[in-house]
Amino acid sequence: MSTFLGMPAIHAPRGVGGLRGDESFPKAAKAALGDTQLRANIGRATRTIREKRAAVVEEVPDWEELRLAGQQVKAATMARLDDHLRTLEEAVTRRGGVVHWARDANEANAIIADLILATGETEVVKVKSMVTQEIGLNEALEAQGITATETDLAELIVQLGHDKPSHILVPAIHRNRAEVREIFLREMPGVPPDLTDDPRQLAMAARAHLRQKFLTAKVAVSGANFAVADSGTLLVVESEGNGRMCLTLPETLITVMGIEKVVPTWQDLEVFLQLLPRSSTGERMNPYTSAWTGVTPGDGPQAFHLVLLDNGRTATLGDHVGREVLHCIKCSACMNVCPVYERTGGHAYGSVYPGPIGAVLTPQLTGIEDNSSLPFASSLCGACFDACPVRIDIPSLLVHLRERHTEEQAKEHRLPTPEAAALSLVGWVMQSPRRFRMAETALRMARPFARSGRFRSLPFPLSAWTTSRDAPAPPPETFREWWERTRDQ
Ligand code: SF4
Repeated sequence: MSTFLGMPAIHAPRGVGGLRGDESFPKAAKAALGDTQLRANIGRATRTIREKRAAVVEEVPDWEELRLAGQQVKAATMARLDDHLRTLEEAVTRRGGVVHWARDANEANAIIADLILATGETEVVKVKSMVTQEIGLNEALEAQGITATETDLAELIVQLGHDKPSHILVPAIHRNRAEVREIFLREMPGVPPDLTDDPRQLAMAARAHLRQKFLTAKVAVSGANFAVADSGTLLVVESEGNGRMCLTLPETLITVMGIEKVVPTWQDLEVFLQLLPRSSTGERMNPYTSAWTGVTPGDGPQAFHLVLLDNGRTATLGDHVGREVLHCIKCSACMNVCPVYERTGGHAYGSVYPGPIGAVLTPQLTGIEDNSSLPFASSLCGACFDACPVRIDIPSLLVHLRERHTEEQAKEHRLPTPEAAALSLVGWVMQSPRRFRMAETALRMARPFARSGRFRSLPFPLSAWTTSRDAPAPPPETFREWWERTRDQ
């Protein structure tokens, strides 16, 4: 099976995977805002990671140069992504691995299920698998009678809780210790009944549960943080060491990764291995970095398969502005500083990729019409751009996607949407100084109706804005009036 980058550019298919929620962001966010426990859990966790990150970033004198280097390596890699992927395929094959190309989630799931069934096994262990959440692999395997066990602690909590991830680095960030204890007591066979919510006790219970799985599993499925094209090496960086168990003990290892994870050479990794741990967990270095290249007789898995997943990435690459999202190294720093994410949590985004990066990645993978509310799920404050270790300009991407959405809406609707009508009216007013001045005067007439400098509600259609926010009252004096009054002084 083969695919060709850019031909044709398809989006992630509907009906499979974790990129589409049941409702739009504003509706889901409204429900999340009423959940005080959720807000407390997320607020506490993001604050802690934020402070740790700020402290270790501060220690690096050339942090800005490193960020620039990361941005430039990524941009150069994306410009020749097809070449790098071909080099990777050749290197992996040369070292005894088998490369599979998957156009979308359905193809990837079918390839992986067939590979597992061919081994005669029906149980697999998994690690580092955001991309498998993206394609809905666990559900697809279950339909084929295969049971997959998550081995990352946070992903195990999500799996046992029959839940969805709400953060790309800490998928169970919305759960507190007491909730985790309840899940373990309910779902984990053999867990001691006197288990407390002490983090050490919880970790030991998970460890005993997983040890059994590691020792019996003959097949593992992993994601990858990076793939080095020139040597065909895959890398996973992690904190718990469970990844290392998955990557070395089973007889067959199947790695699935998005095509954007490739880096040309080992030297490029030098930049990202400095940027990633400080930005994600606030550590100077991640505790475990595992790298593997093809198959080594008598050492580690004796069969290695690499599934290269498109699932909307080629379509994203085709947008010369939007493609910047493919530079993401999934550190989650943007989520931890985002005021919107901190209040709504990750589930409101309806995708396994929440927060600022999810708001620009998800609509591009699925096509904007399927996630049209996400580019608007931001205050455009720019905190995400400042935090991003590879300088992805998320605010500009959000504005770009909003523009694309508005253009697509205009094509589909013979009558303009209220938003398009309002913006074209504003555009018409701003084209003429006289009209602009008249609009300012008219707006000021509404000032007496404001309370404490704000309007709590405005008449239709402006009520669409004030149902969820206040609107500031116009100033008593406009900038032009101030200019005319003061310029001769
Ligand atoms: S967009 Fe930047 S900050 Fe956010 S997850 Fe990706 S690399 Fe990290």
